[in-house]
Amino acid sequence: MKKYSSRAEFLRTLGLDCTNSQGQYSFVNDEKKQVFFGLDQRDGINDTLILADEWKYTNKLKKDGTKYKNSTYSKSIPHIDLIENQGYELFVYKTLTSIDDNGAVHATTLFQTEVENRKLERKNDGYHALKHVTRCLFNVDLETPKGTKKPAKDNAQLTRFVRDLEVKNWVLNYARGNCECCGKSAPFTTSDGKLFLEVHHLLKLADEGSGRISNVVALCPNCHKEIHYGANRLLLTAKMYKDIDRLIRE
Ligand SMILES: [Zn+2]
Ligand SMILES: [Zn+2]
Repeated sequence: MKKYSSRAEFLRTLGLDCTNSQGQYSFVNDEKKQVFFGLDQRDGINDTLILADEWKYTNKLKKDGTKYKNSTYSKSIPHIDLIENQGYELFVYKTLTSIDDNGAVHATTLFQTEVENRKLERKNDGYHALKHVTRCLFNVDLETPKGTKKPAKDNAQLTRFVRDLEVKNWVLNYARGNCECCGKSAPFTTSDGKLFLEVHHLLKLADEGSGRISNVVALCPNCHKEIHYGANRLLLTAKMYKDIDRLIRE
């Protein structure tokens, strides 16, 4: 997990502008219709529980012996409603809290940058984020790779291989499981839980095309075959150069 100087800094990498991130279990991006919950990785904590019923009240007692309501819990209920009734998607990121000698839970600055799309389910102890059969995994903090301009001498082959792999991973991560040609979701999930897409070089490596993100796209298998063999292959390529800002004709 990566260390951030504050939770607000981490949330900004998710595209969330949080001026005050204290006292909240969940965050909303209204523009993209997304709700983000943290999943605590502390020992013994359930890997799906995002909002437990027992968090409704604090441990502090009023004079009459009843418990105080936990306002942090109350703030997340409208977010659950956005997912259940307004078509918002649920995302989780892994985080870690610590517990002191008095049993109080402390927030942390450790966050995993991999974000996962999950399915909301109400269970008897609270709200859970269950894994999808087809899930979208992405990393919000992947460095943009340099790639390679063209194959150098033989001893540079390993460097080139590693750099091309970085480019491939970056492009697949950027595509978020959607084909960059037709926009449809990948046709299936691989055995390691990723949505399957293939990478394609717009100018072929054999024609001295580069291994940079400006020459590489993520495609569904259908579009990939069409772009190699279809009558419309040049049109499809031209459309991608027009639609995708990072691409540069070589
Ligand atoms: Zn496609
Ligand atoms: Zn190809």
